[in-house]
Amino acid sequence: MNKRARLDERPIPLIDVAAQRRRLGRAVDEAIARVLAHCQFIQGPEVSALESELAAFCGARHTIATSSGTDALRLVLMAWGIGPGDAVICPAFTFCATAEVVALCGATPVMADVAAETFNLDPASCERAVVAAKRLGLKPRAIIPVDLFGLPADHDAIAAIAAAHGMQVLDDAAQAFGATYRGRKLGTLAPATATSFFPAKPLGCYGDGGAIFTDDDALAERLRSLRVHGEDADKYDAARIGITGRLDTIQAAILLEKLKIFPEEIVARNAVAQRYAAGLGAVATVPRVGNQSTSVWAQYTIRVAPPRRDALAAALKGQGIPTGIYYAKPLHRQAAYRDFPVADGGLPVSEQLAGEVISLPMHAYLEQPVQDRIIGAVRQALAG
Ligand SMILES: *Cc1c(COP(=O)(O)O)cnc(C)c1O
Repeated sequence: MNKRARLDERPIPLIDVAAQRRRLGRAVDEAIARVLAHCQFIQGPEVSALESELAAFCGARHTIATSSGTDALRLVLMAWGIGPGDAVICPAFTFCATAEVVALCGATPVMADVAAETFNLDPASCERAVVAAKRLGLKPRAIIPVDLFGLPADHDAIAAIAAAHGMQVLDDAAQAFGATYRGRKLGTLAPATATSFFPAKPLGCYGDGGAIFTDDDALAERLRSLRVHGEDADKYDAARIGITGRLDTIQAAILLEKLKIFPEEIVARNAVAQRYAAGLGAVATVPRVGNQSTSVWAQYTIRVAPPRRDALAAALKGQGIPTGIYYAKPLHRQAAYRDFPVADGGLPVSEQLAGEVISLPMHAYLEQPVQDRIIGAVRQALAG
């Protein structure tokens, strides 16, 4: 059997964690073995080492490693004292955790629409969500822009809205750590930034994990306390209500190894994205990054109008090519979120995108012949 034929038969993963593991070789095993030897499973030396490395990587003054991306978001809202009567604006076209943390704090998520070209929070709709929140008697306290699929949101426009209304900004960079906006890495674009190290994210660990980035000294101190049950100097005299929000030492040790190859992986992901754009631009709406940002391509998401989108997914599946639909239902159409308020003017773009989006296999180890097979299959399915 020649190489070409073998490639045609191999199942293609949507995100290939195993290929990365092969590249890392023994480095991860050895890092884990070191933790097993020193036994400091909670807040061990690897956690603070990772926090320093992540801070250096993105340029933030403080990094607080957390148990998940969701806890990272939640801890910031807790630290800001956001609660009942407060409104937090978030996009409707995102993973539910963005709004979940708002509701968990007792505050009200107010959903805004996104821009079709970027999948990210539409500043005009964000402004209309603030208007809706005020009319409902809620106090608009914060905006949570999401850097969806790895592409930074329009941070300058969002910062301007926040400033005009005296609101905070919490950047949900769960999918976008490593991406840049106007030459700066995410982590410093908002007063606080949260990311996730869920295995399928661009920088993932081998379990759950996340981190918060901030330049605000007082906020960082409060977050470190909230992360450990609200303890301050005296371990058994809680100063405030907190949570168990720490990152495990073993996950930190794994992330330290993965961070070393992350810059190269970002380059590789961008090469994959470029080849997709060149191969598919004529048959589908492919994502465009523009010149003020770079993406880390958590997903490579194209748009195909219904009913052809579902036919494409079925055709690809038949050829062993997996796809993902992120997101089939915007938040305001999901049972848990449908009673929360939405921006004036509704959320037509989020609703339209839910019917059009389809994400193709994307990772740093997608070999060119495999990608050519995917491109060929998409083109064939969409021809005519
Ligand atoms: C993954 C994700 C989260 C949550 O991260 P976890 O680590 O899974 O808790 C939050 N927001 C967005 C946009 C995400 O994609």
